[in-house]
Amino acid sequence: MGANLGVGGLDALNFDNRFVGSLPGDSETDNYRRQVNAACYSRVMPESVANPELVAYASEVAELLDLTPADCATGDFAAIFSGNQIIDGMDPYATCYGGHQFGTWAGQLGDGRAINLGEIVNRDNERWALQLKGAGPTPYSRTADGLAVLRSSIREFLCSEAMYHLGVPTTRALSLVRTGRDVMRDMFYDGRPKAEPGAVVCRVAPSFTRFGNFQLFASRGEIDVLRQLVDYTIEIDFPEIGLPSKANYVSWVAEVCRRTAVMIVDWMRVGFVHGVMNTDNMSILGLTIDYGPYGWIENYDPDWTPNTTDAAGKRYRFGHQPQIALWNLVQLANAIYPLVGETEPLEQALSEYTRCYEQGWQEMMACKLGFPAGCKVAVSTLVAELLEVLPLVETDMTIFFRRLAELKTERDLDEAECVALLAEAYYIPEQLNPSYKARLFAWIRAYVDCLREAVVPDAERKTKMNAINPKYVLRNYLAQLAIDEAENGNYMKINELLQVLRNPYEAQPNYEHYAAKRPDWARTRAGCSMLSCSS
Ligand code: AMP
Ligand code: MG
Repeated sequence: MGANLGVGGLDALNFDNRFVGSLPGDSETDNYRRQVNAACYSRVMPESVANPELVAYASEVAELLDLTPADCATGDFAAIFSGNQIIDGMDPYATCYGGHQFGTWAGQLGDGRAINLGEIVNRDNERWALQLKGAGPTPYSRTADGLAVLRSSIREFLCSEAMYHLGVPTTRALSLVRTGRDVMRDMFYDGRPKAEPGAVVCRVAPSFTRFGNFQLFASRGEIDVLRQLVDYTIEIDFPEIGLPSKANYVSWVAEVCRRTAVMIVDWMRVGFVHGVMNTDNMSILGLTIDYGPYGWIENYDPDWTPNTTDAAGKRYRFGHQPQIALWNLVQLANAIYPLVGETEPLEQALSEYTRCYEQGWQEMMACKLGFPAGCKVAVSTLVAELLEVLPLVETDMTIFFRRLAELKTERDLDEAECVALLAEAYYIPEQLNPSYKARLFAWIRAYVDCLREAVVPDAERKTKMNAINPKYVLRNYLAQLAIDEAENGNYMKINELLQVLRNPYEAQPNYEHYAAKRPDWARTRAGCSMLSCSS
């Protein structure tokens, strides 16, 4: 129990476990699968692993916990963040939640493979909850094993940090530890399971509460527990809302709507597709949570979904995410209804989502094109036409906006010059037929007219555009390359990607290849084009 740890660092982690200290828990402490009633959590211990080996850690996240790189290099660090060592102050538990999966109410789900270690209060008095993903079964594991494989853990670890550095609200990832244990997975759901290396990621966030936590209590009529969880969430995570009251419950829902809108605008800005926007995967703090079969838009296609399980209905496709977020917020509002007893104020609160999203999205698109905030030039027609032009031929969204920043407006370019400027963004040059080129050229002329009207100097516009349009995103094939190497015991690429993605808006001449568009081989390879939920 931490007896061998040195002074400071890991030994000094300052636990203050308010979630378990304030909310009703499960009185059963044996770890077996079950329905858990009228409780927010069940205490459960992580499973020991054979041979914990640190693959990577994020020094910025360690810093949030007042840990130094030296602390992270110790064997104790790998032992603690794989679940092998429980230290003083930890009080591990799994939370109880439900959710709508693919639009259908699924009943109790819960942390089936996430075990919360407790909450840290750091030197700056910030509260950070620590959660191990893949540390063994819990009462909520249903028919599954509570474990995670290396490939999906790498994807979660890298993407959490990439999103953070892109400025997208997200849960963070402290560490990625290989467990030395094999995990059986049927990756293609074809009845041929195979042993894969197991891993544990330690996630860090102010709270991991999901829409589904509230929904479950409402669905069971456990209104007293529902109220306790809402009051607790407002007190700890939304103190600015004030004391619990009917009016403040509504204000809180409105705030969740605003935060969710901000998050989705960011997803649309950087080309992120979550892939499984079930209500149990929606953070009450408006953070991107649960990185599973997510993907990044490469060629701009609003109908694209990375998730094989969603291939038929494409419910969670890129262009549908804004509507799905609203659908999910409606489910949250329904769950809160018993505490408010009136529909109208909750509908008002929900309208905040649409208002914030519309406004935020318009502003974001104007910024992507380099128009200054508050600019009076009407750009909505320009944006609408661009979104028609982009999918006509396979166009890499990320590269397109970086190339567009290079456009010069002091003289009129001809059609060939415009096409040449953007050439790098196109996947299939043969698709650039005369009618496409003419339409693109017409759009660029209209764009240049607007820019001249807005009087933005080219250099200034380029700087602004490059500060909002990333050069480096975690392209699906890049994550897969890092996975391939890691499965062979080489973790260099993971750490290199982590490093490059720390500065996603800056050109990094030594890492130009990480900004390259998807190579042809990646078009159809599993993990690069489509992902299964099996993780
Ligand atoms: P997800 O689609 O990953 O968000 O997971 C949906 C539900 O399944 C959640 O309750 C998870 O905790 C649970 N789950 C997913 N994978 C596993 C696993 N390997 N073992 C136990 N529970 C799991
Ligand atoms: Mg989930």
